[in-house]
Amino acid sequence: MSLLTVGSVAFDAIETPFGKTDKIIGGAGTYIALSSSFFIDEQNMVAVVGDDFPSSMLETFKKKGVNTEGIQVKKGEKTFFWSGKYHNDMNSRDTLITELNVLGDFDPIIPNSYQDSSFLMLGNLSPQVQATVINRLEKRPKLIAMDTMNFWMDIALDDLKKTISMVDILIINDEEARQLTGEYALKKAAKMVQSMGPKTVIIKKGEHGALLFHENHLFYAPALPLEEVFDPTGAGDTFAGGFMGFLAASGEVSFENMKRAIIYGSALASFCVEKFGTDRLMEITKADLHHRVNEFVRLTNFDMELTY
Ligand code: AMP
Repeated sequence: MSLLTVGSVAFDAIETPFGKTDKIIGGAGTYIALSSSFFIDEQNMVAVVGDDFPSSMLETFKKKGVNTEGIQVKKGEKTFFWSGKYHNDMNSRDTLITELNVLGDFDPIIPNSYQDSSFLMLGNLSPQVQATVINRLEKRPKLIAMDTMNFWMDIALDDLKKTISMVDILIINDEEARQLTGEYALKKAAKMVQSMGPKTVIIKKGEHGALLFHENHLFYAPALPLEEVFDPTGAGDTFAGGFMGFLAASGEVSFENMKRAIIYGSALASFCVEKFGTDRLMEITKADLHHRVNEFVRLTNFDMELTY
């Protein structure tokens, strides 16, 4: 089934305790598209870049089955630029620069050929833009998931709540869940998000894995303990792309299938952090992914007899 991905396609400059990059290719939409392409041969992408964005990357998208008809290239304008610096624990970072550039007045245009998309992944963008995409689809997709961040909670809470009420799945991290709901306990926070609309809430806890709340069911996926954590940028988007790519490929949106999707998303995110930017996602194969999913299975599988 077809997946429509909307998100930033960007230049990032990243600093971690292990090194520093100049402008490299990033953006939530980029990570989502690269990650979901492990499961689906074709996907539709809506984004905007400036004419400083390398056409070679648009070609790479195409090679990975990404339909780029919906990626607007704005002549004489600059691509969105984000710069961040990670603290020593790698779990927290400071945003150093956000230059919206073409994202400032992004009007997401949905090509006619995208209208039959049955899965929609709304990457982190302004909630108004996310809602506009939903409103511009003639038929509601079978499943709509959205990501967001504290930035939008600070400056556009009412719009954010409206958009959240329109989707099936909200994917956020633990800090954002607490900020959005005012609840510290994640179980309570998830319930409150569910009362806003989405039946399913995924709360990412960085190196501590992710929680899936679906109706009254709960599932926990650990994060794989890694020897190398080089650059966490895009891990959340990679997770979301893997999750939605897997669901779109199988077409089934049951709780059991979402559990599998979370493990695939976590496995892809674990690769993403091993090198700067998209480097690791670009080099791994499906065989690498299968191997890592098996590591997850081994990590969490145990026999137990209740003898005491
Ligand atoms: P993550 O590490 O999953 O939070 O995602 C990092 C990516 O999000 C980077 O590649 C940035 O280009 C992108 N990004 C950061 N801030 C924003 C924003 N305000 N709107 C859209 N994309 C953003």
